[in-house]
Amino acid sequence: MEQIHNDDNRKLTSSEEKLAGIADRGEGERRDEWHLDPPDSCDYCHRSLSNSIFFVDGKVKGSFQWGNMCAECFFTYGDAIRWGAGQLYQQVGSNEWLMVGGFPTDEPEPF
Ligand SMILES: [Zn+2]
Repeated sequence: MEQIHNDDNRKLTSSEEKLAGIADRGEGERRDEWHLDPPDSCDYCHRSLSNSIFFVDGKVKGSFQWGNMCAECFFTYGDAIRWGAGQLYQQVGSNEWLMVGGFPTDEPEPF
């Protein structure tokens, strides 16, 4: 796996592995969209995101509510990684979060 920010070299959780499969780092770097105000912690389990690899800014399944979710909570509460549902961010430097999934499309939003 290429260049995942992972200071303590820990093993990825299964949720992180799933998100790593969705993340498109190359497309993210081409688009160069960074989260301007990244959250400190997950809105749902309140774990710190400082050592996390991914978070999702996304819609809660079956709801109109949006939140910042860690990898684990995304698979519990989240809807999907796509425009209109959720954006996936990868931490590529200390507190520098690049959008790597759920990119804006030129298509009308699928509602
Ligand atoms: Zn969480």
